Amino acid sequence: MTTGLVEIADVRKSFGAHEVLKGVSLTVQPGEVVVILGPSGSGKSTLLRTINHLERVDGGFVAIDGELVGYRPARGRLHELREHEVLRQRAEIGFVFQAFNLFPHLTALENVAEAPVYAQRRPKAEARAKGLELLGRVGLAERAEAYPRQLSGGQQQRVAIARALALDPKVVLFDEPTSALDPELVSEVLDVIRDLASSGTTLIVVTHELGFARDVADRVVFMDDGAIVEEGTPAQIFGAPREERTRAFLSKVI
Ligand code: ADP
Ligand code: MG
Repeated sequence: MTTGLVEIADVRKSFGAHEVLKGVSLTVQPGEVVVILGPSGSGKSTLLRTINHLERVDGGFVAIDGELVGYRPARGRLHELREHEVLRQRAEIGFVFQAFNLFPHLTALENVAEAPVYAQRRPKAEARAKGLELLGRVGLAERAEAYPRQLSGGQQQRVAIARALALDPKVVLFDEPTSALDPELVSEVLDVIRDLASSGTTLIVVTHELGFARDVADRVVFMDDGAIVEEGTPAQIFGAPREERTRAFLSKVI
């Protein structure tokens, strides 16, 4: 049925009468880094949210590693999965949001180790050791005991990235991970994402950071008005966009 690690096939989504995703198809291969660009309101966040079933699709499907997300086919119909099955699927998908969404009453390390301990019932010592390793990977091993309010925005987002990696996800989704940061903190977060990309983690990144997209993406996808307008290598999209809407968008952002 599927060919990629992430298979998005003709996905449609409406809010009331407003069709926000108008048949989006995108296949992401293992290890691939896909950057999604597009104007505000074009459906980028909604598309990411369909990948882990935070939004139900109205048509089409999403599959991860050959497994349908949110549904099970049986007796010729699709049956929605139960909550615990959806949570199991979500554990395979890391998600980093614009607003870091850390638990304020937990330390950096507790934020990272929380899901392994409580959702997956891993032994605490093991989750802490892995959490420390992940905090080291994002350059924050020495801030493990700090609370979110004691960390800069860039540090909080790096903790959020470590947390997204804690369950060994098959793919990590980023929704404008640097948009809420002061400009001087953007690069430390992009550098961590760059490291992930070069370590072979499969990433789908919504961002307006075109320099990052140019350097790191294997493929750039441009969305507008609920549809993929064009996609290609960074060289193609930035150097020779085929579609007028892509050209207009890039000329505004650069
Ligand atoms: P983007 O991330 O590209 O800015 P979004 O996916 O957030 O776009 O939104 C696409 C469109 O869907 C927008 O018009 C937005 O207002 C609308 N939308 C998103 N979420 C909801 C919702 N929960 N209810 C109603 N409309 C929504
Ligand atoms: Mg968005």
